[in-house]
Amino acid sequence: MLQNRPPIIVILGHVDHGKTTLLDYLRKSNLAAREAGGITQTIRSFQLAMPAVASAKEGKLITFIDTPGHAAFAQMRSRGSKAADIALLIVAGNDGVMPQTKEAYEAISKSGIPFIVVITKSDLAESDPDRVKTQLTEIGIIVEDFGGTVPAVAVSGKTGQGISELLEMIDLMRELSPPQADPDGQLEAVVVESKLDSKKGPLAEVIVKNGTLSLGQLLFNSAPVGKVKALLDFENTQIKTALPSVPVEILGLTSVPPVGSVLSDKPVLNPQPSNVKTPTSIVNGQSSINVILKADVLGSLEAITNQLDPKISVLSSTTGEVNDTDVLSAKSSNAIIVAFNLKIGASVQKLAEIEKVRVKSFGIIYELFDYLDLLVNPKETEKILGKALIGAEFKIGPDRIAGCKVTEGLLQKSDTVRLVRGDKVIGQTKFKSLQTGKTLIDKVKVGQEFGATLSPYLDFKVGDIIIAFATYGTP
Ligand code: GDP
Repeated sequence: MLQNRPPIIVILGHVDHGKTTLLDYLRKSNLAAREAGGITQTIRSFQLAMPAVASAKEGKLITFIDTPGHAAFAQMRSRGSKAADIALLIVAGNDGVMPQTKEAYEAISKSGIPFIVVITKSDLAESDPDRVKTQLTEIGIIVEDFGGTVPAVAVSGKTGQGISELLEMIDLMRELSPPQADPDGQLEAVVVESKLDSKKGPLAEVIVKNGTLSLGQLLFNSAPVGKVKALLDFENTQIKTALPSVPVEILGLTSVPPVGSVLSDKPVLNPQPSNVKTPTSIVNGQSSINVILKADVLGSLEAITNQLDPKISVLSSTTGEVNDTDVLSAKSSNAIIVAFNLKIGASVQKLAEIEKVRVKSFGIIYELFDYLDLLVNPKETEKILGKALIGAEFKIGPDRIAGCKVTEGLLQKSDTVRLVRGDKVIGQTKFKSLQTGKTLIDKVKVGQEFGATLSPYLDFKVGDIIIAFATYGTP
């Protein structure tokens, strides 16, 4: 049964505008409230009880996701798995609207979640909230004070000024449209952070959006990702279950699930095509190609990532050999592995073949760029297989048969063909049948005469040319 769950909040904004300071303030106020000391958190998302809005109702908790980078945020969106319910758009009161403010706003508006403008650093004398609000109108955000609908609040992550007002605003938004989930329903846990720890193995920080995450559960995204061996909450306490909106770290997985992917207790949440095709996802409303980058050294990785087309979505970029985990992550996230200056081991190659994951390795950087370029702008090359001239027309029953002679190459019954009149293409079709006399045949060679029926039907005329061709797409 659907029940209200705590709202999940994400914080976005220009670098240095105070996201971390605000989160730290909130986190500390939380710890103080629980008289905790010396807790080292491994995960940075956390839940906050709202003493400022103490109500008897449920939903006194707020979950904060520690600022996923924009790419991760876009990734989450692209997978239809909105990790957050409400966004905070941070703008420093002294600095005002900056390029990343705009980007963050675009990401938020595309995700369709409501947001609050948070003007930070309001303890500084030079902070000027009205100037910020005016600048915001220029990028299309009209705050409530200015007659618009977007709530705005001035805060300081240093002094705590305005924070309780911010929490009240979040609570109000929650009341307007309470987020809900079914704790007994199918598990949906959005990966907000993941990595391969040299000691603990694959680690994934997730936020449960639906269902209940439990010890011992087998998890899947498109493929199995392993069994939950341990769950750590944001205070580093081992827990047995995590209910909706709870951020938690999962230990014991066998592969590193990509950020933005959704883990489920059933195998079918993110069905992936079984055949290999160009992996794409939608980022910023555009189709993008998922790539896992590997290189020998950090310098190469940087050189590559600095020059990538925006349509390439890099899910991870790490140094070191391509390993099984890379292949499994590529499979689960529908990505291509692109390696630079690395040899691909035979066992990894084998696994990639089994898992139908594309692994491309390059020793020359511009060849790597050419390859990525082809992925982004696939050029279809066409090869003419054969041509035939229609010299006559017959009718057998309902069928119009083109009497042809091969003038070039070879035409086969399975070919795709184009009907051309002068310099005009009449249409594209296939052969329904090929025959010489009354005998059905599969192919005809240069010089040979034959009769052809076309399906789908095209209104051919004597003098038209039939061209058989093949296209070759992305490498
Ligand atoms: P982030 O990049 O958005 O996470 O920004 P940070 O939280 O790291 O803040 C960048 C700088 O601004 C740091 O030097 C902070 O100490 C400072 N800062 C952040 N918030 C405030 C604030 O509310 N008041 C003042 N005076 N300084 C702040």
